[in-house]
Amino acid sequence: MQLFQFRLQGRVQLGLRFGQQTGRFGLNFTETLQAFQREALGREQPAIERMETFLDEYLDLNTVVQQVLAFFQNYHGKAELLLQEDPEILPPLQRPGKILCIGKNYVKHAEETGSKPPTAPVYFGKVADCIIGPNDTIHMPRDFGRVDPEIELAVVIGKPGFQVKQDQAMDLVAGYTILNDVTARDLQTKAKDTGHPWFASKNYATFCPLGPAITLKEYVHDPHDLEMVLAVNGEVRQEENTKQMIFSIPVLIETLSHQLPLRPGDIIATGTPHGISPLADGDVLELSIQGLGTLKNTVRAV
Ligand code: MG
Repeated sequence: MQLFQFRLQGRVQLGLRFGQQTGRFGLNFTETLQAFQREALGREQPAIERMETFLDEYLDLNTVVQQVLAFFQNYHGKAELLLQEDPEILPPLQRPGKILCIGKNYVKHAEETGSKPPTAPVYFGKVADCIIGPNDTIHMPRDFGRVDPEIELAVVIGKPGFQVKQDQAMDLVAGYTILNDVTARDLQTKAKDTGHPWFASKNYATFCPLGPAITLKEYVHDPHDLEMVLAVNGEVRQEENTKQMIFSIPVLIETLSHQLPLRPGDIIATGTPHGISPLADGDVLELSIQGLGTLKNTVRAV
């Protein structure tokens, strides 16, 4: 069960993909939800066109998605709700409240950067202005020196929580997607060496490819057992299983929410495995995580 955002005739809308029943290109979820509210609940409501709005309004996504799908099965105007062509897929979230990223959460990656594995989660932020979607172009400023991609499992928060304990933490999760934590490695090394923050090396417009969809957590067997592969021009550079994470998702949620409230739409990028390497102009990146799909982007030196 995957929710995505697409653009059709200039409008951003939500889509849903789930097996055969949602057709080849998916279901227009924005229109189906509105038809469900009107016909099944007797409520005229404005269309929900943004993932952030949907996450804010519905805390139990799987229940509402199942209700809407059941309605769709018997709806007389069913055919009109199926997408008839391959839509332009946008990032599944464009204005999340925050993007919290974990550094050095895989032992071999910590080692390849010359660091010891941390004893508590290390984190930093990326801002929403860096987000791009599937098939968009990553811009690599020539004066930045080395720029690396980093494949990461991204957790999408669906329920608010502050100072949440590990045993309650997974209740906050709505689903998962793929995030590429693009990093200006030379700038980061210089920042580390001089004791300055990493911010500039992690935040350049286009440095946060995200997508292609949010897979609801109920349809991910175990987020701590997913194969992930990053290929550049078809050559595998990073390949690891999320079971190698040092700090699990509940530990990350407990740590981050101790300091900041987590809210629907917030993203936690859980860290990248070993195999980091520099990008070049014209590279084609494909980031795949088991059950979540593939996030593809090209690179352009600017
Ligand atoms: Mg990273």
